[in-house]
Amino acid sequence: MENEAVSKNFIEAEIDKDLAEGVYDTVHTRFPPEPNGYLHIGHAKSILLNYGLARKYNGKFNMRFDDTNPTKERIEFVDAIKRDIQWLGADWEDRLFFASDYFPQMYEAAVKLIKKGKAYVCDLTAEEIREYRGTLTEPGKNSPYRDRSTEENLELFENMKNGVYGDGEKVLRAKIDMASPNMNMRDPVIYRVAHMSHHNTKDQWCIYPMYDFAHPIEDAIEGITHSICTLEFEDHRPLYDWVVRELEYPHAPRQIEFAKLYLTNVVTGKRYIKKLVEDKIVDGWDDPRLVSIAALRRRGFTPESIRLFVELCGVSKSHSSVDYAMLEYCIREDLKMKRSRMMAVLDPIKLIIDNYPEGQVEYLDAANNLENEALGFRKIPFCRELYIEREDFMEEPPKKYFRLFPGNEVRLMHAYFVKCVSFVKDENGRVTEVHGTYDPETKAGSGFTGRKVKGTIHWVPAPCAVDAEVRLYDNLIDEEKGVYNEDGSMNINPNSLIVAHAKLEPALKDAEAYDSFQFVRNGFFCVDAKDSRPDALVFNRIVSLKSSFKLPK
Ligand code: ATP
Ligand code: MG
Repeated sequence: MENEAVSKNFIEAEIDKDLAEGVYDTVHTRFPPEPNGYLHIGHAKSILLNYGLARKYNGKFNMRFDDTNPTKERIEFVDAIKRDIQWLGADWEDRLFFASDYFPQMYEAAVKLIKKGKAYVCDLTAEEIREYRGTLTEPGKNSPYRDRSTEENLELFENMKNGVYGDGEKVLRAKIDMASPNMNMRDPVIYRVAHMSHHNTKDQWCIYPMYDFAHPIEDAIEGITHSICTLEFEDHRPLYDWVVRELEYPHAPRQIEFAKLYLTNVVTGKRYIKKLVEDKIVDGWDDPRLVSIAALRRRGFTPESIRLFVELCGVSKSHSSVDYAMLEYCIREDLKMKRSRMMAVLDPIKLIIDNYPEGQVEYLDAANNLENEALGFRKIPFCRELYIEREDFMEEPPKKYFRLFPGNEVRLMHAYFVKCVSFVKDENGRVTEVHGTYDPETKAGSGFTGRKVKGTIHWVPAPCAVDAEVRLYDNLIDEEKGVYNEDGSMNINPNSLIVAHAKLEPALKDAEAYDSFQFVRNGFFCVDAKDSRPDALVFNRIVSLKSSFKLPK
C-alpha cells in the first residue's frame, strides 16, 4: 500500500479508481489557458501533468483556449502559448480548440436551464447582487427577479443576446440556493452583457458566459474525463458538478484540484509578470530573468530540464514553494554531459608569454567534454598573446591562492605550464598586462610528470578571440527582502543583470541562436535569440556551475 502511494501521485490514484469502478473507460485531459498573457513555469507543470496523464493511460490530451472573456485576450498570446506548449513537447495532435467556438452551445445550454426553471434574468446591479449574496456566516436573500416566468426569462435572455441592454444592465443567474453554505452556489451569474469585440468571434456576441458556467460545458463537449485544475477552484466544484448535472451531459467530466507551483522569491503570477513587462522593468515577456516559458527558453533552459523539474516537484494537494535552485539543478543535470566545455574569458586581461616566438601559432587538441567522448575534439590555437580572467592574477595573493602571481606557475588548460614573471600597471595602478614564460616540456597530453602545479586556469588566444556580450543574471527579486515591499511595490534587485564584455575561443565564432555551451569555470551559456547577431554575439548565462543545492531524498 505504502509503496503504491509513493510511486503514484494522488491524481493517478483517483484515475485508477475511476477506471476500476467503470466510471470512465478512458482518460481524456486538457490544458485550458486563457490567452491573456504568456505561460510560465507553473503552467508548464499543468501542461506536463495533463499531457503526461494522457500518455500514461493511453488516452488523449486536448489543447483548448479558454477565451470566454474578451477584455484581456489577444491573438499574440494565442500564438505564444501554442509555441511554448509545442516546445515543451506536449502534443495535442489534431485537438486544438477554442472555448469561443462553443458560444452557440453555451447559449443553448443557458436556454435549457431557463426552460428547466434553473436560471433567471436578474436586473440587480453588480453591487446589489453582492449585497444580496450574504456573507460566510449569513445566508443571502433571494433576488426580487428570481421568480420570473420561464417565458419572460426566455424573452429577456434573447433580448440580452440581441443587444437590447447595456453592459451590466441585466445578467443571467443560475437558480440554486441563496442559503447555501458555499457562496459559489448562491445563484451565481452565468451570463453577462458586454458589448465588446472578441478576438475570435468579433462582434457576433454581446453576451459572454462566466468561467464557472463555461468551463464544465467546454469539458463536457470535448469528452474530457478528468478536468484538472488548481486548488482555488475547489470551492467551485459543486457548481461545476451542478452545471454538468443540470445540463444532463451523457459523459460527465470530473474536476480534480492540485496545488499550484510556486518558486521561492520568483514572480510567477501572470498578473505580476505582466506588470513587470508593462512597467518596462524587464525586456518583454521573454526577458531571461523571468520564469515565463519563453524567458526560460531564451535563457537556454531545455524542455528536458523543465520536464525533470516538474517531475521532481511532484503533485500535491497542499501549497508549498520550491527553491529556484532546484530548477538550476535540473538544467545543469541536463546539460553537463550534452554540451561542449569551451573557454571564454568574461573579464579579460592580457597574458603575454615572453618566451613564445612572436607570430608562431600551434593548434592544441582539446576534448569537448571529458565525460562524453562522443562530443569529440576541437583545435585551439595557442600563441604568444592570450587573455585570462582578471581574477586569475593577483599581485599580492592571499593564502591558498593557487593561480597566477609573481613567481608562481599554473597550468593553462589544454596547453602548457606558465610561470608569472612580471606585470604592467597603468597610471591608476590597475594591472593591464601579465607576463609569463612557458615550459615546452609541459604540454598537455605529453605525459609530462616532472613537477606539479596547484592551479589550472582557462585562456583564449588574443589575436583570434571572438568578442561577445555576456549577460549574467541574478534573481529579479531581492532574496533577503522578499517579493513585495510594505507599500505593495515589487522589490527589484538592482543587480539582476550584469553585462560583461567577454573574449571567447575562436571555435565559438559561428554559434547560433539557442546554441548552448559550458564555459569552463563560469557556467552554462546560451546564445541570445533576440539580440545576438553573427558579428555581435550575445550570450545569456543560464546557470553557474556551483551550487549548494542538494536533491531532497
Ligand atoms: P496565473 O495565476 O499565473 O495568472 P492563471 O491561472 O490565470 O495563471 P490560466 O491561463 O487560467 O492562468 O491557467 C491555465 C491552467 O494553468 C489552469 O488550469 C491553471 O490552474 C494552471 N496553472 C496556472 N498557474 C499555475 C501554477 N502556478 N501551477 C500549476 N498550474 C497552474
Ligand atoms: Mg486564470
